[in-house]
Amino acid sequence: MGAKRIPVAVLGATGSVGQRFVQLLADHPWFELAALAASERRAGERYGDAVRWVLDAPLPAAAAATLLCEATPAIDVPLVFSALSADVAGPIEEAFARAGKLVVSNASSHRMRRDVPLLVPEVNADHLALLERQDYPQGGGIVTNPNCSTIGLALALAPLERRFGVRGLHVVTLQAISGAGLGLPGMDLVDNVVPFIGGEEEKLASETRKILGRLQGGEVRESEVVVSAQCNRVPVLDGHTECVSLRLARPATRDELLAAWREFRAEPQELALPSAPARPVVYLDDPAAPQPRKHRDLERGMATVVGRLQPCPLHDWRFVLLSHNTLRGAAGGALLAAELAVARGRVPR
Ligand code: NAP
Repeated sequence: MGAKRIPVAVLGATGSVGQRFVQLLADHPWFELAALAASERRAGERYGDAVRWVLDAPLPAAAAATLLCEATPAIDVPLVFSALSADVAGPIEEAFARAGKLVVSNASSHRMRRDVPLLVPEVNADHLALLERQDYPQGGGIVTNPNCSTIGLALALAPLERRFGVRGLHVVTLQAISGAGLGLPGMDLVDNVVPFIGGEEEKLASETRKILGRLQGGEVRESEVVVSAQCNRVPVLDGHTECVSLRLARPATRDELLAAWREFRAEPQELALPSAPARPVVYLDDPAAPQPRKHRDLERGMATVVGRLQPCPLHDWRFVLLSHNTLRGAAGGALLAAELAVARGRVPR
């Protein structure tokens, strides 16, 4: 990258994920935060007045002083990060793509479209080629970031899938409050666990199959991995924990599994992309790890942290993973996807 940074906009900047974008973009080496958008009713308000800032990190002064604008393609930037609610994201993101901008989205609206990459840059960077199939003028396009619990799972599975094949798995998730946006009533999660997150169990299955799928003849041929997921909301602020029991296609020893995770590196590491973790998967030997409060920020919140690998009496192996849902699972993952797109020359300038 040259010295000149690429101007970018954040749509949905006041929400849980939008705030992470604002935090991470405050000093990004490649991207310059040029515009912040939220819903129409907030247009013209100072971001610092409009936002209910929930992060521990201080609200960056430059962002606080920025006036919110409407989420319309009149925003003059080539690269747009969307943290819009899924119920409004679809047509707004399309409008930006039609105006020749590359949209990197966290919303589910376009994730399963056959011509849209569902990107975990260490796992399926080649799927970025699907952009060629999109029919937007002037080089516009849409790239999506998977669901937050799926990203952590895909990162742990990919090294095992490559070496041994993964036939199927059962996963029980313990998902953080911040994954529900800013709207979840606190009382729902005091002294409580909610064993329902709308659409999440289906997304874990369908998105995992697309991410682990192979690109053939310009199409993704989905993986046949069977995923049985049960998802729970728990009183943790950030960081999704997932208890996984899986069946492999070929037998593997404990040492071989650990080596597959330890040695896993991919294009983001080779290119030294700014948001890439040095270690995409970190295994912890401590029998009481991983834990959200202690381990979610390892590798700046961009790694899947794994522990408790044991033989499974029902399947082959079981383990526990932890992934930061608003960093790797949302804003950080989207930044990494955009960095990959820039490195491959796919951002209109
Ligand atoms: P959120 O806290 O509810 O924030 C939603 C954002 O969308 C707010 O900035 C809101 O602005 C804006 N918005 C709502 N209606 C709009 C409209 N008609 N026009 C323009 N902007 C509008 O949600 P979130 O948790 O940050 O999630 C954002 C997206 O990322 C969702 O699609 C979600 O599924 C996905 N995601 C979330 C996570 C996570 O861990 N939270 C992880 C992965 C993916 P106002 O403040 O003006 O209403």
